[in-house]
Amino acid sequence: MIISSISPSFDNVSSIEAVNDASDVQLIESLVARHGAPLMVLDCDSIRHQYRLLQAALPGVVLHFALKPLPLASVVRSLMDEGAHFDLATAGEVDLVAAESVPADRTIYTHPIKRDADIRAALEYGCNVFVVDSINELEKFIRYKDAVEILVRLSFRNEDAYADLSKKFGCSAEAAIQIIQRAFKLGIRIKGLSFHVGSQTTDPEKYVNAIEQSAAVLTQVSALGLPALSTLDIGGGFPVGYAEEVIGIDEFCRPIRQALAELPETVAVWAEPGRFIVAPAMINVSSVMGQANRDGKQWYYLDDGIYGSFSGIVFDHGNYPMDALHWEGERFASVLAGPTCDSVDVISEDIMLPKLKNGDLIVTRMMGAYTLATATDFNFFRRAEVVTLNEQPVMDQVSSFNAG
Ligand SMILES: *Cc1c(COP(=O)(O)O)cnc(C)c1O
Repeated sequence: MIISSISPSFDNVSSIEAVNDASDVQLIESLVARHGAPLMVLDCDSIRHQYRLLQAALPGVVLHFALKPLPLASVVRSLMDEGAHFDLATAGEVDLVAAESVPADRTIYTHPIKRDADIRAALEYGCNVFVVDSINELEKFIRYKDAVEILVRLSFRNEDAYADLSKKFGCSAEAAIQIIQRAFKLGIRIKGLSFHVGSQTTDPEKYVNAIEQSAAVLTQVSALGLPALSTLDIGGGFPVGYAEEVIGIDEFCRPIRQALAELPETVAVWAEPGRFIVAPAMINVSSVMGQANRDGKQWYYLDDGIYGSFSGIVFDHGNYPMDALHWEGERFASVLAGPTCDSVDVISEDIMLPKLKNGDLIVTRMMGAYTLATATDFNFFRRAEVVTLNEQPVMDQVSSFNAG
């Protein structure tokens, strides 16, 4: 509830000033008084809300949350209770869902390049759907052919995305047909096709084109007399609003729904959302460690930076909405720097901020995806502590209160 008004789980709110209210300020100050700074405050209500929004925008599509942007047990638990499935990419992610007792038949393993030990770790857990994008990778499954089902990952280039995931992975339609023919000869079951149009894709036509081209491959497979494919996995990439707004998810998904409606009814559709589910669920709270005036500009040194929670600025083109917790008053051109001794550790070169004292707090929203996950403890600055709010849905809280 509370943080969702600061870190809005609804779409398209870009100004923290518009949503701060007194109870939010008090909550943040009390969390810092209890835990210290820097903090990453996670609101599980927001996770559930985003999951429901995307499920409503893509009815009938089985959503597999990709753990990669925020691999936390509390996130897995919140989504498991919503009925989510999970998209795993490493043995470490297998360990995380296994520790939370996620049923293995709700998981898929989508890294296109795996070691034999990775495959075995997933199979031992009970996950048996894997992704390949080459004959070399397919042949790793010869020895497991009776246990596994395979998705073949197609590649559709998208240079506008935050991460063009079709540069490093995926194959052409022609190569996919060759892989499927080879699998048929080897007796390996091909379940379907997958793709990833690129993270933070803001143009739904990228999905529409990929769905249409995938549909053509499905048709070609049947025409060649190969066993029909049962599944199309449309990947992740669904966008959220950072400093710039994006269109709401229901409108974004409208052309995608239309394209999916053209698929044969026998084809099940899956997706692998990551960022969309978790980005709005976390705010960062860091405090001013010190300050200096350099060349007429006020520099503030925070206790979190590029090597910590703000790593997404480097790895994810992050442009997060941020402001002082107490934002009232005249503003001055300022620089926000991270705590390490490295000169690249600057969060913002040009931000208008009120005059801050040491110890004052800076709040940054939309910090759930690809932030903490890529943070380091360079210079021995510890990663921000995660404080989790609303782990139990409100309904559960009421009923356990009544039961008590
Ligand atoms: C990273 C990744 C995702 C999640 O992508 P988002 O852009 O965060 O939605 C899904 N599937 C695969 C295979 C990935 O590598």
